[in-house]
Amino acid sequence: MDTSTSQKVDPAAVEQPVGRLAPSPTGMLHLGHARSLLLAWWHVRSRNGRVVLRIEDLDTARVRESYTQALLRDMEWLGLDWDEGPHFQSAHTERFHAAAQQLLQRGLAYPCICTRKEIFRSAPHRSDGETPYAGTCSGKFSSLEQALEQTGRRAGLRFQVPAGEIQLEDGFAGSFHSNPADEVGDFTILRRDAAIAYQLSVVVDDAAQGIHEILRGEDLLSSAARQWLLQNALGLPHPTWYHVPLVVDAEGRRLAKRDCDISLAEMRAAGIEPQQLVSWIARHSGIPKAKGQSAAELTPEFDLKRVPRTPLVLDPGSQLDLIQRDN
Ligand code: GLU
Repeated sequence: MDTSTSQKVDPAAVEQPVGRLAPSPTGMLHLGHARSLLLAWWHVRSRNGRVVLRIEDLDTARVRESYTQALLRDMEWLGLDWDEGPHFQSAHTERFHAAAQQLLQRGLAYPCICTRKEIFRSAPHRSDGETPYAGTCSGKFSSLEQALEQTGRRAGLRFQVPAGEIQLEDGFAGSFHSNPADEVGDFTILRRDAAIAYQLSVVVDDAAQGIHEILRGEDLLSSAARQWLLQNALGLPHPTWYHVPLVVDAEGRRLAKRDCDISLAEMRAAGIEPQQLVSWIARHSGIPKAKGQSAAELTPEFDLKRVPRTPLVLDPGSQLDLIQRDN
């Protein structure tokens, strides 16, 4: 399929790369976050690039001010710095609503009143729990107001996904294929509670903040195709993506804020020094000789090409042990 109307940012033509750290304050940061943040920071800093810090705080049901404070403290403790921000997404929601309206007016998005439960019940869902949306509301309503008037239910907005497969280039993972029409179907850009969905906000902000490159965990690889489609539809440039393997437990599950993985704050309280943690991460990220060094000291040695292509397997129970024993 070739629906490309947007320009790809050519990394070679960019004089000074601009990357971003984009944490969500929805829980405490743990080792997996620290690793992704450090890799993103090293990748930009080792090429004399600029770092933008963006706090992705639109999911009001899960965001807490105490998490925001904790993540700022954790990032400073790790030795990360930034040239711009923190920009809080919640402080500039008009640009997201404007983009959503634009897509609606151009017929590229449509109002949808379906609840999650209804979608789940009406369609077969896949093993990963995703239920591709069947397009039930497509063509039914012309505006959010009309949907409410007609049905008595509040509507959100879904982006109309063009049929077909897309091939994308990832700066780390290589080329990959995706078929968002089959995999997810028309996806939400504005939720029924009027909150802006992640896929839209990330695309609008990356463009508004002049981001050339995005390094993040490979759990977000499947989102890249949706983001690429939105960039096309909105005429926004495509940044270069680098999706890196995650830190996983012995069963291959990624470390998660909701599990009992040790947070960075707990590590700090247990007496771990940031240099210990940072050097441990560096040793598992292509700098085998790192020992007792800070994030900034390790910057010149970082090379994304040397980061292992496989997940970093870790037994969560022994995280503290591991870091202490290895230093
Ligand atoms: N805010 C997201 C997270 O913390 C990252 C989004 C992105 O990098 O695109 O998981």
